[in-house]
Amino acid sequence: MAETTATAMIEVDGLAKRYGDIEALQGISFKVNKGEIVGFLGPNGAGKSTCLKIMTCFIPPSAGKVRIGGKDVQEHSREVRHKFGYLPESAPLYTDMIAYDYLKYIGQLRGLSGKKLAERLELVASKCGISNVLGQIVGTLSKGYRQRVCLAQALIHDPEILVLDEPTVGLDPNQVVEIRSLIKELGSERTVILSSHILPEVLATCDRVIIIHRGRLVANGTPEQLQREQMSNPPVVLRLQASETVTEAKVLEVLRAQEWVEAARARPVGIPGELEFELRGKGEADLRSLAVTLASAQKWALLEVRRELLDLEGLFRKLTQE
Ligand code: ADP
Ligand code: MG
Repeated sequence: MAETTATAMIEVDGLAKRYGDIEALQGISFKVNKGEIVGFLGPNGAGKSTCLKIMTCFIPPSAGKVRIGGKDVQEHSREVRHKFGYLPESAPLYTDMIAYDYLKYIGQLRGLSGKKLAERLELVASKCGISNVLGQIVGTLSKGYRQRVCLAQALIHDPEILVLDEPTVGLDPNQVVEIRSLIKELGSERTVILSSHILPEVLATCDRVIIIHRGRLVANGTPEQLQREQMSNPPVVLRLQASETVTEAKVLEVLRAQEWVEAARARPVGIPGELEFELRGKGEADLRSLAVTLASAQKWALLEVRRELLDLEGLFRKLTQE
């Protein structure tokens, strides 16, 4: 899919990483522009964390290059590290420290001190919604609040680029919604890269989605492009009331005789007296209305018609087949 030619903030070029026999990354290239929120999507083990760790100079690549603002991260690692705020996969929180002291400590590591540090600390605490828990011991905070403290530590030095590795893992649904909206807000003033193994999450949060599968990049596009991919020609599921005349064999015969049906198969339902069929169509027509019209003409008792959108695994299969 198309990539803009504007000066890229981040350029990843042919990145590969080997851990012994495991090829975690097998030559990944992409660009991220200033101000974008980019989502890294892939199942567990795809190589997301590895790629983020190389970009933030935590581990070296086996091959390939990462440039930040045109500078190689290997050659300018000190300078480049400063541009990043990083929320690692398992947040490295000092659980017996008071939240305020923890943030102060991280701020000092990031080179801040005195009034500047106090100002930044107050600002990020307010932005991350933790001002009222700064006096608490980190270990006593809820998982959602701990995650906010982690975000605050990633932001303390006002980095240009924020890298968040699976920021919503382990949060309850309300906390997930809060963290997502916080990420969106943070993304309005800086470049954000986040990883996730949850398709709806990246579709909801990101301007662009990069899909990684088994160490390779399989897609790079806007959520709209991916959604179109996900929605194009999905199978339709039809559920009918069985009767003496409405049997699996009879219905399949009728379905397969329709010129708009490419393939039809029965699926197990587990409810006595109900039948379920999966249809694939020819072309782009929405099969749902055709199926409803057919059911009515055949006097079938129609219980349900629905499109079956691809889940992440289905989307991968589709993307990797093409
Ligand atoms: P993701 O973050 O997408 O789940 P990772 O980047 O953590 O994927 O892992 C990619 C692959 O590399 C996996 O097969 C994982 O087991 C392997 N891997 C990751 N880190 C190490 C390591 N330090 N040593 C050996 N293998 C590793
Ligand atoms: Mg990971």
